[in-house]
Amino acid sequence: MFNITWILSELFWPYSVLLLLCYVYVQYSAVNRFIKTGSKQNVLFVTAHPDDECMFFSPTILSLLRENHNVYLVCLSKGDFYGQGDVRKKELLASCAKLGILQSHVTIVEDERFQDGPENKWSTDAIAERVLSVVKRVRADSVVTFDSHGVTGHANHIAVCNGIRKLFSGKDMEDVSVFTLESTNIIRKYMSILDLPMSSIFCTWTFISSPMDVLKSWRAMAAHNSQFVWFRKLYIIFSRYMYVNTLCEMK
Ligand SMILES: [Zn+2]
Repeated sequence: MFNITWILSELFWPYSVLLLLCYVYVQYSAVNRFIKTGSKQNVLFVTAHPDDECMFFSPTILSLLRENHNVYLVCLSKGDFYGQGDVRKKELLASCAKLGILQSHVTIVEDERFQDGPENKWSTDAIAERVLSVVKRVRADSVVTFDSHGVTGHANHIAVCNGIRKLFSGKDMEDVSVFTLESTNIIRKYMSILDLPMSSIFCTWTFISSPMDVLKSWRAMAAHNSQFVWFRKLYIIFSRYMYVNTLCEMK
């Protein structure tokens, strides 16, 4: 029978072996030198909606947590597009718990100016102001967010990038490094684990989940119960973003 369980059981071992090989390569090839000083850092992830942290950033989050860095998250909306915002807030906290992010390190912004939805224009200045207050509060050394394509092209993701770029261009973030998540073309996006060799070799900032990390991120995604419909179940198998992140440093 061709169903999700069958796909998972058939793919588990080949996926695990390839994942492990690329994971070991990245760990030992010194490509993964995100932290320049080697000291413990405060890294703030800035997302637009509950589930972004898991669907797009989990390889980076899990890699940094494994290296004992302090991971913080600010999500700029509660994801109220279908009126499920209050449910999704709880799901976000549950997802973060599965990933290993402390509840006290999670900020969910409820601001009229950031209504979930691709048609809703988020003010660049308002984003910059909101993010800056969190950067200061958590004393962030680095910020990680979407790039100008927002992985999916969602207007809210792109707005977050623009807001942080504005912030970064001023004087308030002179001591903070900003990294953006590389958006790939649709073929690479859904190549799943087959994209790993390309990402491992050609990118400076590459984060690969270990096989156990992948299971952790799948469980975190399942915590977003209201969103965990059939196509997202396929997404967590086939999207490269569940296995690897490549980041670019904002200049
Ligand atoms: Zn999103």
